[in-house]
Amino acid sequence: MVHILGPTKSLASLLDEETLKKAEADKEGHQFFPLRPSSAGYCGRKLAHDYAAYIGLKAKVHEDRKPNIIRLLSLGHSIEYHALQQLKLLPGYRLAFKQQVVSMFTFPSGKIMEGSVDACLWHDDPDMRAVMDIKSVGDRFSKSFGSAWDEEIESFSKMSSMTKIDDYGYYIEDPVAFIAEVGESPLVANIAQINMYLHSPFIQERGIKWGTVYRYLKNSSKHFEIRFKASPTLFNKVKAKYIAIESLVKTANDVYKIKQDHILGDKACSYCPYRPDCYPDATKKEIYASYPGKKWATRVSEMEGADELRQLFAPYIQASLIGKSATVIEKQIMVVMQEHSVDKIKLDDNTVYEIKYLKSGAELRRSKE
Ligand code: SF4
Repeated sequence: MVHILGPTKSLASLLDEETLKKAEADKEGHQFFPLRPSSAGYCGRKLAHDYAAYIGLKAKVHEDRKPNIIRLLSLGHSIEYHALQQLKLLPGYRLAFKQQVVSMFTFPSGKIMEGSVDACLWHDDPDMRAVMDIKSVGDRFSKSFGSAWDEEIESFSKMSSMTKIDDYGYYIEDPVAFIAEVGESPLVANIAQINMYLHSPFIQERGIKWGTVYRYLKNSSKHFEIRFKASPTLFNKVKAKYIAIESLVKTANDVYKIKQDHILGDKACSYCPYRPDCYPDATKKEIYASYPGKKWATRVSEMEGADELRQLFAPYIQASLIGKSATVIEKQIMVVMQEHSVDKIKLDDNTVYEIKYLKSGAELRRSKE
C-alpha cells in the first residue's frame, strides 16, 4: 500500500471545495442593483425577477456555477487587464477615464442609473475618440471552420448590418438593425452596455460618438474589433424597459407584467435560473434546442432490446471494473445498440454510454447526459 504524502485530497479537489464554499458565502453578501448597464441586453422578465429579489419581494435565485466556471470568469478579468496593457500601443491614442463612473438617467424613484466604463480611447481628433469595452472570449471546435472564432467572423461577412473595416474588424452603422439580424449573440449585451455609456452626459460632453467591443481570444491571443455608432433608439429602448421594471414591480407577482424577451429553446433560457418558473414542464430536448449538436441518451428501459442490452452491460461493467479486457462484450453491445439505431444509452442506474466513431474504429465510452 502506497502512503501518499501530503493532504488526503488532491490540491485541485481542495481548491474546488473552497471555491464553492466562497461562492456560497458570497451569495449572502452584497447584492448589486440589477438594472445596470451590463444587464442592458438581458431578458426583461429575468431582470424583473432579479429586481424583485433586490428590493426584498422574493428570495434571490442564484446561478450555480461549477468551480472551473468561477475560475474562468475570474481569469477573464486578468486577460482584460493584459489586453489594456497591449492597447497602450495604439498609435495616436491614450487610454483615458479607466473605470470612470458615468450616470445615464434618473429612475422615477430618484435612483441614478450609473455604471463604469472599461476605458475611453482618447485622441486629439474628437472623431477618433471611442468608448471601449474589452471582452475576453473562448474558442471551441467548429465542424466547418475548425474554430468557432473563425466561423463567427465569417458569418459577419454575410450580414447586411455589418461593414468590413479590414480582416480584424467590422463596423455597425445601426445597432438596432444588427440586433434584429444577429439573433442570439453575446455581442447584443456588449453593444447594449457600451451604448448606455455613450449616452451619458459625461461621454457626450467629450464628443464621443462611437463605441467598440475589443474581443480577445484567450486560447490564442487573437483579437478582433466590433465598432458601432451610438444608437439613441437602442438607448431609449433599454431606458424604457428599466423604468417599466422599477415602476411596475411592487409585489412578487408583478414580475409577470414584464414581458419575456426570450422563448424556450433560446440559449438565454437554457441557463437562466428562472427557467423553471417560465417553463416548468420543459424537457431537456426543448431546453437545449439551440444546441443542435447535442445527442440525447435513450433510456434502456424504453428500448425493444432492453433485456439483451442489460445482460450485456452487466458483465461489461464488471469486466471494466476488474481491469479485464471488455472488448468482446463491448463489440456485442455496440452491435445491439446499432441494430436499434441508438448511439447513446442511459442505463437503469442513469450511467450513460456512447459509441464514439474514431479513426481507429468505434469505441464504447462513458458519457454524459
Ligand atoms: S427563462 Fe427565458 S424567458 Fe424566462 S426569464 Fe429566463 S431568459 Fe427570460
